Amino acid sequence: MSNVDFELLRKYTAIPAPAERILARPERETSFDISIKISAEQVIHGDCFVVYYNTVRGPAKGGIRLAPDVTLEETRDLAERMVWKTALARIPFGGGKSGIRLDPRKLSRFEKTALIKEYVHLMALELSNGMYVPAPDMGTNATDMAVIFGELHIPECVTGKPPRVGGLPGRREATGRGVSHTALLTLRDVLKKKPSDARVAVQGFGNVGSYTALFLHEAGAKVVAVSDVNGGLQDPNGLDIPALFAYAQKNGSLDGAPGKKISNDDLLLLEVDVLAPCAKEDQIHGENAGKIRAAAIVEGANGPTTPEGDKILNKRKIFAVPDILTNAGGVIASYVEWRQAKSGAITAKEETFQVVEERIGIAFDDMVKLARAKKIPFRTACQVSAAEELVSSLVDRDWI
Ligand code: GLU
Repeated sequence: MSNVDFELLRKYTAIPAPAERILARPERETSFDISIKISAEQVIHGDCFVVYYNTVRGPAKGGIRLAPDVTLEETRDLAERMVWKTALARIPFGGGKSGIRLDPRKLSRFEKTALIKEYVHLMALELSNGMYVPAPDMGTNATDMAVIFGELHIPECVTGKPPRVGGLPGRREATGRGVSHTALLTLRDVLKKKPSDARVAVQGFGNVGSYTALFLHEAGAKVVAVSDVNGGLQDPNGLDIPALFAYAQKNGSLDGAPGKKISNDDLLLLEVDVLAPCAKEDQIHGENAGKIRAAAIVEGANGPTTPEGDKILNKRKIFAVPDILTNAGGVIASYVEWRQAKSGAITAKEETFQVVEERIGIAFDDMVKLARAKKIPFRTACQVSAAEELVSSLVDRDWI
């Protein structure tokens, strides 16, 4: 059930049996129906899943995913990743997630607002007492978070709001900022390469991938391929990322952008220094991991590598910086937004980026040290670090 291999972790750190019992399964899961009558003829129904995986270190933190194929299992998996992500980044949150099974592209803005309002009505108690603090995930955005805020009038009950209504400057860019920073640290400390000598491929051009590509381009790296759901573009001399960024902002996707095409499958197999899968789960798997030619992978998406794919990458000595570190920039910025909401402070974008880079930098250094000392992959090193934090927190709370 859990996506953490406790047997493996126990070789490198002490995990008492009661701690494993608690961390290996969700604290609470709920499934409910959201039905909204939007006209005399039409009712929209969405299955909704809410998982609080673990709250020993603070409120359940994690986004709301709106997708036509979302399941309880996927929501649980994502909630669990939030537990390890927040522990690794040492921010005072637990892990949770919501999933609503509906296709956001088939909803008008009006319908989506009605849906979110109904979600808030059904979750009002838990959202207003701070038990669960949502944020955007795939299919939801800052406007949706503003709707949640507008229903409850509690600034800290939700993060990822637009900056004008209690949001944080830099929150939108924060996940991509963290992914690009992780890529730059990987180049500097692991591959020993200057950004200007580096070739990078980015899968996914949504909120995470587009900013990752933009920041890496700004740092001087050659971004040789990008893609979104419909495929992508490549140029061995480096793509004009600011132009593609502007194109995707204007048109909603890369569809129709000029340039040499590349499929999503082929993008993953390019010979690059850093490959950043920033789209969705299970992209690197048993079938393609043996053919990957990247020197390092930074996981911008949640769970882009299957356990089978991971085994192959480890055997082939391809460095994979795991999602719980690489994409933690989003939830780290959420922490800054939550702190701002609680204190009433005003935060500059530079401060958001500084906190994101500092938290990721500390976790990255620990990961590299631990991986070298114990001769373990980066993923295991990150999990060992997070496990130590979680076990100590369980002791501090007198749960074990
Ligand atoms: N959805 C993002 C993630 O998977 C952000 C969650 C948050 O900020 O709470 O990390």
